[in-house]
Amino acid sequence: MLIVPESEIAGLITPEAAYRAVEATFAATARGDAYNFPVVREALGEGRQYGFKSGLDRTGNLLGVKAGGYFPGNAAKGIINHQSTVYLFDPDTGIPTAMVGGGLLTALRTAAASAISIDRLARKDAKVLGMVGAGHQAGFQLRAAAKVRAFERVIAWNLHPDMLPKLGAVAAELGLPFEAVALERMVEADVIVTITSSPAASLLDRHVRSGTHLACMGTDTKGKQEVEPALLARARVFTDEVAQSVSIGEAQHAVAAGLLREAEITPIGAVIAGLAPGRRSDEEITLFDGTGVGLQDLAVAAEAVRQAVARGVAVSVTI
Ligand code: NAD
Repeated sequence: MLIVPESEIAGLITPEAAYRAVEATFAATARGDAYNFPVVREALGEGRQYGFKSGLDRTGNLLGVKAGGYFPGNAAKGIINHQSTVYLFDPDTGIPTAMVGGGLLTALRTAAASAISIDRLARKDAKVLGMVGAGHQAGFQLRAAAKVRAFERVIAWNLHPDMLPKLGAVAAELGLPFEAVALERMVEADVIVTITSSPAASLLDRHVRSGTHLACMGTDTKGKQEVEPALLARARVFTDEVAQSVSIGEAQHAVAAGLLREAEITPIGAVIAGLAPGRRSDEEITLFDGTGVGLQDLAVAAEAVRQAVARGVAVSVTI
């Protein structure tokens, strides 16, 4: 069994490689060659969440699980709130093949999913990127979004304004003008990424204009919510995994309110595989409910292992 420590991941996988790996497994899912197993997610108290995301991808030869969660007290201790490890197994024998640090991989695979949705669903002429959220994931999201559209400026809102300068620094690095705004100003955005741990809607229907693409990435648990359900009723809704979207994703609220039916939600993999249309007009609102699936984790972890072996940095152990 190989171990690829968290400290090696940054040197092993690029955002581009993460994008390709995630796109391939989304398409495999839509073709019926891969599937995610039901998510286990438990509240540990004091805002801590812990669980398991897993799946099988026959074309990618992936079987495994990501174990981890969200520990909101970590930031005060100088460590990131998300903690996770990916375990890979040989799909034919069940033998464990690798244990891979999952922190950076989670950020890269989440940003890749968001960027895939922007690439496939946002208007080609999108110029203004709106960011709702400025925590650990937000910088990765901004970097990935900037790779798929020629944005001219970034507007951002965060409940805790003191976190915004760090995101502004990422925009500056990318050469993009950055402005902290009130949520009402999100009507200027062509693409909006939401990446908060909010328990109630921040972004309202009236904050979003026609033709916008939203990547709602923060809601990955029952009880979290970033946008007003009326917005999902107004949008065409896409997701990484319909079963997760309606139970732990942003769509949970619109479905519960009777504003959206499960059958109306399109897996993004179907768009990638050419089985379903993406954006159909410049006026429609498209909304990607990115819940985070196990297959994303396995795909990027497998790529990290391949690179680690090629570069001789994987640690081999016998168990
Ligand atoms: P973080 O703790 O670093 O940042 C939290 C963010 O949420 C900050 O911007 C904070 O200001 C904001 N926030 C907190 N409470 C809020 C409230 N009541 N209303 C509005 N905003 C509020 O977290 P992070 O690592 O950046 O992750 C952000 C979210 O993304 C979390 O919910 C996390 O679980 C989720 N996430 C989803 C995926 C996925 O695949 N979909 C992957 C990773 C993380």
